[in-house]
Amino acid sequence: MARPSDHVDGARLWRRLMDLSRFGARPDGGVDRQTLTEAEIAARAHLVALGRSLGLAPFTDAAANLFLRLPGRQPDRPPVMAGSHIDSQPTGGRFDGAYGVLAALEAVEAIRTAGLVPSRPIEVVAFTNEEGCRFAPGMTGSDLFTGVRTLAEVAGIRDAAGIAQGEALSAVLACDRDVPQRPLLRPVAAFVEPHIEQGPFLERDRIPIGVVTGIQGTRRYRVRVTGEAAHAGTAERHERRDALMAAVRMIAAIDRTASDPADTKLTVGMLQVTPNAPSVVPAAVEFSIDLRHPDNAVVDRIDAEIRAIVEAERGPCAAALRQIQHNPSLAFSPAVRGAIAAAAGRLGLPHRDILSAAGHDARQLHYACPTGMIFVPCRDGVSHNPAEWAEPGDLTAGARVLADVLWHLAESDAI
Ligand SMILES: [Zn+2]
Repeated sequence: MARPSDHVDGARLWRRLMDLSRFGARPDGGVDRQTLTEAEIAARAHLVALGRSLGLAPFTDAAANLFLRLPGRQPDRPPVMAGSHIDSQPTGGRFDGAYGVLAALEAVEAIRTAGLVPSRPIEVVAFTNEEGCRFAPGMTGSDLFTGVRTLAEVAGIRDAAGIAQGEALSAVLACDRDVPQRPLLRPVAAFVEPHIEQGPFLERDRIPIGVVTGIQGTRRYRVRVTGEAAHAGTAERHERRDALMAAVRMIAAIDRTASDPADTKLTVGMLQVTPNAPSVVPAAVEFSIDLRHPDNAVVDRIDAEIRAIVEAERGPCAAALRQIQHNPSLAFSPAVRGAIAAAAGRLGLPHRDILSAAGHDARQLHYACPTGMIFVPCRDGVSHNPAEWAEPGDLTAGARVLADVLWHLAESDAI
């Protein structure tokens, strides 16, 4: 039997990537296609037309997620889904997100061209607002689709111009009048997200296929240290309540504690000093902490140490730590990982296990159905940057693996 991967057309996939990159194109070769903007609306219409031309049925939902459905022999079974997102950062590239959607489209077209009709339906998906740059936080589409958040929770979030996310969603859905809506929270049999690695390892090792084992966990905090403003010349040392000195002690101690194990990622990227005047003892400091490690036990241990350090180093100041985000590390479905590795092996494509250091829509889907990701190399690991680049041959390899994996999952009764 011909395999779907035999019918993947790398030149067609590349042409479609370049076509999509015209929506929101920047003069420097990058893409500015932020979520729910004119550029994204035009890109959606382009995808709907493309899907229809291939015999796929487009539909959407209240989160403005876009689906293109290949019918199955058993149309009532939950679909196998593949895709990513088409929104970008303001200084985005041509491959982040877009590759996942168009590789899924290529895989579905390959299955059709092979003359195969899957048992389960297969849906290509583009999730809304993955990036979170216009409406923060991101992953709105996959959060709403899987019920992690509700429409009421996200509708009031406003962009820099004061437009509410709810208004922007309504405006986009109004443009989709001929695209039917289906409910959120639909059951899904399995989800696969192809994506550029956004890291250096596959390119360095010349390996085209990364079998993503899971997503590294993140905890984010804000620490507010409150002291008292005083004159830099007259306030005695023992009377000072210097918020910045307390914050500096905390940050130094937190950095020391996070140096073990060495692969812990600890970043203090934001520091705000009040009143921020050269001759005034700082009255207040707010700083951020971003903590990541693949092992949840390590993150939990450092979390406890951070809390103890904030209390121990505050001196005469007051200190309050707020955790603003906690995404545990997760391990993807062994069945989906196995299917990706097996497909790459059958195609003779070098592959290796790799952990995702960044978040993706696959995180949300992981809690709803067996989920996996396929990484392909990108140049120098650069992403969220107009210089983002991936080699056509690697992109084709990822789409070939995806085509066989989707066919396998759509036929399998084991998932
Ligand atoms: Zn992405």
